[in-house]
Amino acid sequence: MASAAVLWFGETMSAVPLRNSKAAASAVRAVTVLGATGSIGDSTMDLLRSSPDRYQIEALTANTNVEALAKLAIEFDARFAAIADPNRLEDLKDALAGTATECGAGESAIIEAAARPADWVMAAVSGAAGLKPALAAVDRGATVALANKECLVCAGDFFMQRAAKAGACILPADSEHNALFQALGSGSREELVRVIITASGGPFRTWAVADIEQATLAQALKHPNWSMGQKITIDSASMMNKGLEVIEASYLFALAPDEIDVLVHPQSIIHGMVEFSDRSVVAQLGAPDMRTPIAHCLGWPDRIVGPAAKLDLAKIGQLTFEEPDLDRFPALRLAYDALRTGHGATTVYNAANEVAVAAFIAGRIRFGAIARLVESTMNAWIREGNRAPLTSADDAIAVDHNARNKAVTLLPQIALKAS
Ligand code: NAD
Ligand code: MG
Repeated sequence: MASAAVLWFGETMSAVPLRNSKAAASAVRAVTVLGATGSIGDSTMDLLRSSPDRYQIEALTANTNVEALAKLAIEFDARFAAIADPNRLEDLKDALAGTATECGAGESAIIEAAARPADWVMAAVSGAAGLKPALAAVDRGATVALANKECLVCAGDFFMQRAAKAGACILPADSEHNALFQALGSGSREELVRVIITASGGPFRTWAVADIEQATLAQALKHPNWSMGQKITIDSASMMNKGLEVIEASYLFALAPDEIDVLVHPQSIIHGMVEFSDRSVVAQLGAPDMRTPIAHCLGWPDRIVGPAAKLDLAKIGQLTFEEPDLDRFPALRLAYDALRTGHGATTVYNAANEVAVAAFIAGRIRFGAIARLVESTMNAWIREGNRAPLTSADDAIAVDHNARNKAVTLLPQIALKAS
């Protein structure tokens, strides 16, 4: 198993490893996929499918889709399958009858899946619901490919400290952070000037504020470059996803807010860049296909063969860049505010956004109200003055729950207020 926390960036203890600090991974690895039926789960299973002799599937999990979970568990001969919906246990048992796959249901079964002895765990549950399962993998010192950015945003420093303490190895699976991870090895902490994460700008990149305000669900779900789950696609349209990613980068790599820049790059070919003191900028490029960063995590510290299309820059012709517009996309500004406020503010940012996105999907608020609900919830939380460092998962979950309740309370007045 490639593992163990290392010193990253001088005195800062982190669980994100240095490129050359590990022995090569062993031949057959036990692998667990949390959120196996989702978009990232699907890409991960696709990579695992291409090298069946190399991986033994320890556990697979899903939220409610028993049929899809059982199908995967049977195909991959998984040792354990867990469904989050506690009412679907009997259905899962029926679907797995006659197989050797054990199964469970409810949140505790998802946590059990993560706690089982896999060398490599893909954390791809969506939303803050992914926090406890990811921590269960981290606590036993596993190598965790982290796609679930919300759990990092929700638990902040605490998540990385716990990973470092347990000797877990966190590999960034989010494409921008994976790009930074690959580029950061070109210099030291002292030599680093800033990191730049790119953003496609989403479907509303060129839209006027008034049109963004009224955007429909179908319009928000039309991402120009990436094919992803529903929640992250809506977050990309509001640029909340980029805000979550700024926070994610700060916690993952122990960076100050001023060391993280966002650059709109509509072609989504450059995923992340690192600028060093000599003004060299090191970038990672690739077709917009999540199987590339996932393959990097799966192969790390080696490289495996990836199935994404070969990058043909001559065919693409032009790579263009723009400053992000914080007036039309206030979600990005709010992420920097949350990061600078600290002490749970990023937890509130994420929780309020999850409530807002669910309300938008349900037709209860306009698209433009998503950021307004997040801002109002953050302001109310700051006014109440209950800021304190998060020192446990329960702390983070308590702030998350309070923020959700606050957001739900504020929802009706936000829904009524036009921009
Ligand atoms: P998705 O909605 O397609 O899939 C989510 C998975 O989590 C599904 O398997 C679902 O069954 C499971 N799940 C959902 N709620 C759950 C709950 N309460 N308990 C247990 N399981 C639950 O989402 P996705 O697009 O695959 O994204 C997963 C995570 O990866 C998110 O945090 C997202 O921000 C991040 N991410 C996604 C992409 C992408 O391209 N899709 C890129 C970078 C990061
Ligand atoms: Mg990303």
